[in-house]
Amino acid sequence: MAFFPKWWLKKGGWVVLQPDSTLSTVGKSTARFAVGDLHPLDPGLGAARQAVGGAPAPLGTIAKFVAKKKIAEAALAAVASADVGARRFMRQSVARDLVPDERVAICLRRPIPGAPGVELWRDPKHAAAHYKQLQVCGSVWMCAVCGARISEVRRVELSAAIKAWPGQVVFITLTLQHDALDPVSEVLGGLQEAARKMRQARKWRDLERCYGAEFEVRGKVRRRIGTIRALENTCGDNGHHPHQHILGFLRGGVDVEAFTKELTELWLHAVAQVGRFASPKWGIRVEHTDAKIADYVAKWGKEPRWTAAHEMTKASSKAARGAGWSMSGLLELYLMTGDAEAGRRWREFAQAFKGHNQLRWSPGLRAVLLPDEQEKTDQEIVNSSEEDAVFLALLDMAAWRVVLGTDARYELLRAASSGDAGEIQRFLLSLGIIEGVNYGDA
Ligand SMILES: [Zn+2]
Repeated sequence: MAFFPKWWLKKGGWVVLQPDSTLSTVGKSTARFAVGDLHPLDPGLGAARQAVGGAPAPLGTIAKFVAKKKIAEAALAAVASADVGARRFMRQSVARDLVPDERVAICLRRPIPGAPGVELWRDPKHAAAHYKQLQVCGSVWMCAVCGARISEVRRVELSAAIKAWPGQVVFITLTLQHDALDPVSEVLGGLQEAARKMRQARKWRDLERCYGAEFEVRGKVRRRIGTIRALENTCGDNGHHPHQHILGFLRGGVDVEAFTKELTELWLHAVAQVGRFASPKWGIRVEHTDAKIADYVAKWGKEPRWTAAHEMTKASSKAARGAGWSMSGLLELYLMTGDAEAGRRWREFAQAFKGHNQLRWSPGLRAVLLPDEQEKTDQEIVNSSEEDAVFLALLDMAAWRVVLGTDARYELLRAASSGDAGEIQRFLLSLGIIEGVNYGDA
């Protein structure tokens, strides 16, 4: 079966949004966008899609499709223009629909056991409010809110590491071939296994002797190629496309071209060893310019600037064939259009990537580059709190349930970002909350 965007553009994509719809809440999400009466949670969706996609459409319907296409574009553009923070809460909410048994489903919703209620705090440095006494999931792949926090910490470290390295840094991308029918867990497993085989090969040791720099690991000094490996995924016509980016820390003044040639041979061999195939032309890419590396780090872990609307444009252009959707784009596509295939693909990704590290340093490298920074786990990052934060208010459980029930978690944070108790009070009042809130002195 062909996979969207082609499939989606032809069949399902335009059906969901109704031209005359009013603003309504999308499922359980915090977003309020112009969407019609069809949604992933709407049992009518399958039947409706079959009706329009299953048989040749009568002439009149085609004209309607064209009109609806424009509306879908407008709706996706609406998400794109929404506040970055609002979009994260939106994606977290829609992930809850797709993986209800995962911790992301209770993240920033359920108070920690024994908490008297939910606290609102404000960090004056960033002029932003946040919650305390709520459980946070720390799932870097599934939760857009936790994911953003974790990635930002990792990105800052990545940037510092590169600055601290006196030698040559190379940026390596490893991929292998797959098709739309390959389960993502298998492609990911193959990729990880091949990458492991590559680093364990005797030939890798030779590369280290030739291009590496001398540093100590567990009391042993020798030439090594320190690496920071990052796992990523996109999804396109050929299905899921897990790939690995590696920052390689080489000695200064080495012949990068010769290194690339040797590494390419090593990678192709390792992929063959695990019974898969990587194209000699596309299977590995090594870049070494400062600009390219700086660009990678600047964007690392951030939502791609090309938003759902852009992705859709990309998807319909020939140039973008196979380039694929980012995982946040896929989730927004599902949210905005109810495309069941997008939802299924995202769930498949989330389940396969669960438990894998987003970023991994090779042994000893961190001690060389960031000797004063202890590495934190994902959970430690999301549990850490701002030191100078100021307490704003405590909501009792009844008040909090109203915030949850009205999908207003993000809006409440926004109202509280100024730190003005009057503004918080007005906002809560607009939700119908008149009691159950204790305000701080600030
Ligand atoms: Zn979370």
